[in-house]
Order: sequence, then structure tokens, then C-alpha cells
Amino acid sequence: MAGEKTRVAVHKFSSCDGCQLAFLNMGEALLTLFEQVDIVHFAEAGPVDPTAVVDISFVEGSLSTAADLQRIRAIRANSGFLVTIGACATAGGLQALRNVADQDDWVASVYATPDTISLLDKVTPINAQVKVDLEIHGCPVNTRQLTAALRSLLAGVTPVDEQDKLCLECKRRHHVCVMVTQGMPCMGPVTRTGCGALCPGVGRDCYGCYGAAENVNVSSLGGHFSTLQLDPAQTSHRLVSFNSADPAFSPGLAAGVKQND
Ligand code: SF4
Ligand code: SF4
Repeated sequence: MAGEKTRVAVHKFSSCDGCQLAFLNMGEALLTLFEQVDIVHFAEAGPVDPTAVVDISFVEGSLSTAADLQRIRAIRANSGFLVTIGACATAGGLQALRNVADQDDWVASVYATPDTISLLDKVTPINAQVKVDLEIHGCPVNTRQLTAALRSLLAGVTPVDEQDKLCLECKRRHHVCVMVTQGMPCMGPVTRTGCGALCPGVGRDCYGCYGAAENVNVSSLGGHFSTLQLDPAQTSHRLVSFNSADPAFSPGLAAGVKQND
């Protein structure tokens, strides 16, 4: 990537566009970025060239249709390095909740002409269909995460994959633990850091939007939640939300979460 400007594309699949906003929220840093990169496709911001060959592609959203499959394969072929951003792209997002529901009912309740919709049997994250070089988790991802990854890539360094549990970040920031002091069912012990422990910082429990951390013990957390008066269904709902296609937070696992007697 030395010499000429690095060519970058930002693509979108099924998603709310929220993660792409983390680029636009860079503010003045975006101007500096333009000195090093040439953003050739970023429909939300202006440039449109979806078939451009680029050094780095950032991909938001999950895969829902046959057309999505064709498009992501073309993007993979046109990209030197492919980065997925956000819970939709890395772990299915809210769209993947239809994998655990009656799909026909859902489609009929959302679309006026359901017969015109051509859906895959399951919503999948991007890495289920093509090789992904880096995953940046969160719903939404933030500007700090994107900036850190881009800086590393532009310097030829492998970006850091943040897998620590949120509890570590929470303690580094000296937040009072809302689970210990207030009995809130905080997802911090199984959720990866990256958000800066925003929720515990304002006195509320983490609800797991950054997905699973490394080596999590979901069953143990479920057991503790039962002592906080959460029934199995409530615990499952906390796991199967933004990241239901993440194996560590999968519906099957959530359904089998053990509860203490
Ligand atoms: S991860 Fe969250 S913020 Fe990002 S596109 Fe999906 S729903 Fe939107
Ligand atoms: S508030 Fe949540 S994230 Fe913070 S230490 Fe307690 S359980 Fe962990």
C-alpha cells in the first residue's frame, strides 16, 4: 500500500447504516485521512463505484438474499483486505433473529407483497460466505475502532483484535459494578470490550451489543442470572439479540443455559 493512495470502499448489506456513520463521525480526522486514502465507493457519503477494485473494503450488514451472495463474492474478489464492521456483518445482527422465528410470518408482517421477496433460508454474517481478514465488532462500531484499524493497515501492521471481556475495561475505568452493587443482570462477563464500558459508566447493565469475548462461560453467567431472578427465557433473550449468529451467543446455546436451583 506504499506509494499511491490506498483505495478504500465501504459497502452495505442488510443493516441500519449506523456503523458507516462511525466514518463520518471522524470529523477533521476524515480530512487527514483523505491525504492517505482514496475512498472510491461509499454510497452513504457520496462516491459510488460498487465494482471498484480496492486495497481495503469495509463491509457493513448481514447477508439475506441470493443477490447479497453474488455481491459479496464480487466484493471479496475485488478487495485486497476485507474488514467487516458491526454486529450485523460479524454476527448476523437483529436480522438474524428471523433464523429462530417463523420466517414466513415475519415476512408477511413486514412486506405488503411477500411473494416478491427472495430470501436465503438463513441470515448469515459475512464470514459464513467469504474469507474475512478482520472483524470489528459492536452495534454500532465507533470511530476509535475504525481509526485504529485503518491506521494499522496504512502502516502495514496487523490491527489488534479486541477480545477482552467488558469487565476488564469497566474496572480500568473505575466504574462501580452494577451487578455486584445493584443486582443488575450485566452481560459484561461474556461481552467483548471496545465500547469503553459505556453502559456501566452511566449506572446501567451491559446488554451485550459488542458480542462475545474470548473464552466465555455463558452457562455460568446464566446460573448467576437465575440468582438475580431472571428466568431462562429472559436470559436467552439477553444472549440472542444483536449477535445471535455468533456461535458463543447462539440460540441453541442460549436455550440450554443452565439455571441454578
Ligand atoms: S451493527 Fe448495529 S449500528 Fe451497525 S449496521 Fe447493524 S444494526 Fe446498525
Ligand atoms: S458492571 Fe458489568 S461490566 Fe462492569 S464489572 Fe460489573 S459485571 Fe463487569
